[in-house]
Amino acid sequence: MADILKTIEDELPRGVVKSMLFEGANIVVYTDDVPFLKEGDGDIRAVVNKIKKRVELRADGKILMDKDQAEKEIRSIISEEAELTQIIFDIPRSIVIIEAKRPGIVIGKSGSILKEIKDVTHWSPIVQRSPSIKSKITENIRAALYLNNNHRRKFLNEIGEKIYADWDPSKMDMWVRMTALGGGRQVGRSAFLLQTPKSKILIDCGIDVSVQGSDKFPYLDIPEFNIDTIDAVVLSHAHLDHVGLLPYLYKMGYKGPVYMTTPSRDIAALLSLDFIGVSYKQATTPLFSSSDVTEMVKHTICLDYNEVTDITPDIRITMYNAGHTLGSAMIHFNIGNGLHNFVYSGDHKYGRTRLLDPANTYFPRVETLMMESTYGGRDNISPPRREVEEDLIQFANKVVSRGGKLLIPELGLGRSQETMLILEDAMRNGKLENVPIYIDGMIWDINAIHTAYPDFLSRNVKAEIYQDRNPFTSEIFKQIGSAQERKSVIEGGPCIVLATSGMLVGGASVEYLREFADNEKNGISFVCYQPPSGLGGQLQSGNLTEAKFDVNGKQEIVPIRLEVRTIEGFSGHSYRNELMSFVSSINPKPKKILINHGEISRSLDLGSSIYKSFKIETILPRNLETIRFR
Ligand SMILES: [Zn+2]
Ligand SMILES: [Zn+2]
Repeated sequence: MADILKTIEDELPRGVVKSMLFEGANIVVYTDDVPFLKEGDGDIRAVVNKIKKRVELRADGKILMDKDQAEKEIRSIISEEAELTQIIFDIPRSIVIIEAKRPGIVIGKSGSILKEIKDVTHWSPIVQRSPSIKSKITENIRAALYLNNNHRRKFLNEIGEKIYADWDPSKMDMWVRMTALGGGRQVGRSAFLLQTPKSKILIDCGIDVSVQGSDKFPYLDIPEFNIDTIDAVVLSHAHLDHVGLLPYLYKMGYKGPVYMTTPSRDIAALLSLDFIGVSYKQATTPLFSSSDVTEMVKHTICLDYNEVTDITPDIRITMYNAGHTLGSAMIHFNIGNGLHNFVYSGDHKYGRTRLLDPANTYFPRVETLMMESTYGGRDNISPPRREVEEDLIQFANKVVSRGGKLLIPELGLGRSQETMLILEDAMRNGKLENVPIYIDGMIWDINAIHTAYPDFLSRNVKAEIYQDRNPFTSEIFKQIGSAQERKSVIEGGPCIVLATSGMLVGGASVEYLREFADNEKNGISFVCYQPPSGLGGQLQSGNLTEAKFDVNGKQEIVPIRLEVRTIEGFSGHSYRNELMSFVSSINPKPKKILINHGEISRSLDLGSSIYKSFKIETILPRNLETIRFR
């Protein structure tokens, strides 16, 4: 038995511990002593204070109430107002998952209802919010985890055994180094290998979707990278340039955990499955299959923001809001019991948006910071937010009032939800003409994930959802799924259409463009980046008089007559001014700043400006370069 378990058993009254298991870094004490189950919280708290680890008390299978009986009791304890949707028993872990539309009512005042459920049934209740938009992906993920709950229990216990194998917080011989495997002086294929005497951690594992060939992937073929010795993967967020290669790691035999937030797990699964679909459409062999995506999901350990957890004997992580996408995280690594503190910013937005709160800037300690520089160049200044929004609304009004249709090509994740919030607010306040807003492509699935995790949204949107005024389910939005529905939009009257893909490479947005292009009443507004050589970039240049479209293998040439408007300032990344004020606000000040995730000139520009303004050493690691932190 690991020392830590022995310590716990010695601290608790004799005979109450039936068994103990790890769930990752958390420790679960199972008891068959009913009075202790009900009143042992104080004893457990005392242990937690002593060992500084999370310990949970649950019932041994022997004293659990029969499932059917327990379900009846739970339904009678919880008021109907809570709108229960599902009750699921995780038998191996003595847990009951209660899904409801109003989870607050299930919890009760300071947890009183949950306590009652546990006292009566002895099952440990967990409450989940049922999404107000049905999300297939979230349902499938929850079902897959449930189906594999025996595997899960074993897997989580093994992780705990590894973390606490030589549990002795006093002895630490320490060095820390990090190697850039991708994402150094570039955007795309982010991957970093963090090493200490006792840990090998992979931070992100993305692909560069904009290139072909081996440059697409991070350098996983170097001698110091060995998939069998990786202890854990930590994921900042679910964009493909950070997560794209993760299912492939499981295909290659990785069996360890991957830490991320719960929304990132659902989005990662959705985008990975979509990525497989896109490969088939482009007639290329997908990198991985849906069963590899399931493997990834089965090995995720989800963390909330600000939740501290050990991931190896000498590394403890905490995720903080990064403000970039739903569930995006900055990751704080406490290495060697505080000997070195490293923050990886991931992609971040230090600015106010409707959807998310600005990135966190307060950390318990930080010596080294690595931050992104997508918009790090001195010209990458954002226009005032209000102007940007007004621009969009003004253009939308202009198009629909002359009887036209407005197309907004959108990235599925983040930007489209932001646009929806702006349009919804403008229409509700009479600033935008009352026309239908059609939502096509993957956006709807992503909306569903947003409404399933309101705690990760901005304070305002969260409050609206809690007060049953969910902006994403407003009746002004109409979901378009079938070819028939699409046809009726194309043939119908003035409207606004939000459709993926954002860069006009395949997807519904291209179909709408083909139909809308020939009419000067119509309009297209770009809210996300367009590569200059792509269709979007050519439209923006204003020189395009006609465009070729592929219709069932035949080329169709369509004249370009619609009005084109580019609206800058909606990025989910920090602009130059926001990056500089992020560095100025971060507390405490790091001693060293590494700059990544930016094209070289922008990274250099940001690095030298940070040095000049704050006198902090800056480093721009190239791919394959190793930096020693300590
Ligand atoms: Zn991103
Ligand atoms: Zn990125």
